[in-house]
Amino acid sequence: MRTVEPIAELRRLLAEHRTGGGRIAMVPTMGFLHEGHLRLVDEARRRGSLVVMSIFVNPLQFSPSEDLSRYPRDLAGDAAKAAERGADVLFTPTTETMYPAGAPAIEVRPLSLADRWEGAVRPGHFTGVLTVVAKLLNIAQPDSAIFGQKDIQQCILVSAMARDLNFPVEIVVTPTVREHDGLAMSSRNSYLQGDDRKRATVLWRALRAISRSFDEGERSATTLEEVGREVMGSEPSVAVDYLAVADPDRLEPVRQATRGTVIALAARVGGTRLIDNTILGAA
Ligand code: AMP
Repeated sequence: MRTVEPIAELRRLLAEHRTGGGRIAMVPTMGFLHEGHLRLVDEARRRGSLVVMSIFVNPLQFSPSEDLSRYPRDLAGDAAKAAERGADVLFTPTTETMYPAGAPAIEVRPLSLADRWEGAVRPGHFTGVLTVVAKLLNIAQPDSAIFGQKDIQQCILVSAMARDLNFPVEIVVTPTVREHDGLAMSSRNSYLQGDDRKRATVLWRALRAISRSFDEGERSATTLEEVGREVMGSEPSVAVDYLAVADPDRLEPVRQATRGTVIALAARVGGTRLIDNTILGAA
């Protein structure tokens, strides 16, 4: 695996591969890699003859009150994991490389798709995400780019950006990878101290209870939400930011759930904000 920092060097490497007829698959991340990220590499391996993973903790998507400075980092460990899993190129740009003039003069700002859920709780977050993803896709020009369902609103927005702005890339979404007790893997799980780690499983328990209720025939979104909120209430120290029963294309709330309806959940466990989701009726 080659680790590359300058954009020009990455482009040279990728151009060589493209000239030889190769296909490039990209996995954008913020690092502190776990099995969830590495499954994206597996998917990239199936789709490309060259897999490029990027690691960049993007300041633009953090608000001033968020965890940019304490976001976990381990570049050496990440490089070992990425290489072992079969990434060919690790792109690790510095902030100066990505934003040489400081704040960019142009951003990619989503419209109503970002008004709800994560977009409402974290104003400006998705503008930061889409701006950096647009930059990474323009820098590497991959044939496909792989994202995780765990960040479902991000997946919908990135897909919409690629479609609406005609990015010549296939956006691929892969399932959420979980710990043995159901907690969705996340770099932020490393913040969970003591009992909070166990409490954090309540998100998955709530999502599972809703899925079970749907499988048993419940279709009312209000009732399904109540089922989830009751489970969340069993951990009084966990604060729910939102529990969405929404359609999979735009994440608009629905009144009646159907197969494919998304349940998206965000909650704060101690000082750690966690998100998770499930799709009703999925095998
Ligand atoms: P991050 O480093 O948190 O920005 O995540 C980079 C990519 O990995 C995003 O596409 C995430 O959706 C994806 N990802 C993060 N956690 C998981 C997980 N537990 N399962 C699957 N994909 C994940």
